[in-house]
Amino acid sequence: MAERFEAILISRDEAKKQSVAIVELGLDDLMEGDVVVRVRQTTMNYKDALALTGRAPVVRRWPMIPGVDFAGEVAESRHPDFRPGDPVLLNGWGVGETHYGGYAGYARVKGDWLIHRPAGLTAEQAMEIGTAGYTAMLCVMALERYGTKPAAGPVLVTGAAGGVGSVAIALLARLGFEVIASTGRTAEADYLASLGAAEIIGRDELSGPVKPLAKERWAAGIDTVGSTTLANALSMTRYGGAIAACGLAGGMDLPASVAPFILRGISLLGIDSVMAPRARREEAWARIEAELDLGKLAAMTRRIAFEDIPEAADDLLAGKVRGRLVIAVP
Ligand code: NDP
Repeated sequence: MAERFEAILISRDEAKKQSVAIVELGLDDLMEGDVVVRVRQTTMNYKDALALTGRAPVVRRWPMIPGVDFAGEVAESRHPDFRPGDPVLLNGWGVGETHYGGYAGYARVKGDWLIHRPAGLTAEQAMEIGTAGYTAMLCVMALERYGTKPAAGPVLVTGAAGGVGSVAIALLARLGFEVIASTGRTAEADYLASLGAAEIIGRDELSGPVKPLAKERWAAGIDTVGSTTLANALSMTRYGGAIAACGLAGGMDLPASVAPFILRGISLLGIDSVMAPRARREEAWARIEAELDLGKLAAMTRRIAFEDIPEAADDLLAGKVRGRLVIAVP
């Protein structure tokens, strides 16, 4: 095992000013846990970009190695489910927030947080999917549990050209749903159509004043934007439909009325990936392995170098990143 390895460390000075540096660490510098993983691949999600820039209080322990996702193989284990060499992946559980995360050559974590990487996915593909893709699958599963079927009508996906949005479109299209993709980047229309979007609408159609009820347009939706966008999406959902809400790229607030709930029987399904129970994670990853078109996954991914992580965070928050970012860890 390597004596020393590279890590990205976010620190804060006495004035609470945040800085990001690439440092060299040893295994003794890592936090407690019963499994050590040699991290091979990681990714950048919206939350990682918030942590790196300090734009939102994602980091709750200082200093911190960010990276809410990683894939690699077990190097050492005292956990009964994992042995050295096992391919594993991790999403969430506070990793990259309160526990050192995936932007390092090694991670020491609780084995209970790890899942065995599905055999049909490489470490790189697992990170092309990442928390964003796994959350997209949790949204799809929530709509299915609610009873949403393709015959009910189209499904809206907001923040369509982002990570969650891109994977959600590919999954829904594969399952036979007609997808309406809402984006601020209409120049990405061909990309969204290639993922399976049947119709593309401008983000502005959902960012205007919110009416209690508006013309019914979709049977269901997956919302990554929150705020006015989610409020408008609810008011435009057909009678008896549901929106799975997972994101806040447009804001944390929800300027909605109760009208869609009490007059159209609409449901709002909350989606959390971070603390989702292990059984649901394993189900989501098994379904991703079976149902996600890996060709489309490759088309939505860009690779960046480990040292370019800090810079990429600004681009991601500025909405300039299409799909997913993947990073090989040295
Ligand atoms: P990305 O940055 O990849 O995608 C977000 C997309 O939202 C952008 O690409 C853009 O899409 C759209 N967008 C950005 N800013 C605005 C804005 N001001 N108004 C309207 N639309 C906007 O992020 P991810 O896909 O990784 O994550 C999406 C959201 O989901 C984030 O808020 C993230 O925190 C959340 N999330 C939540 C999880 C959970 O467990 N609940 C897990 C994973 C993510 P376009 O250009 O097409 O308009």
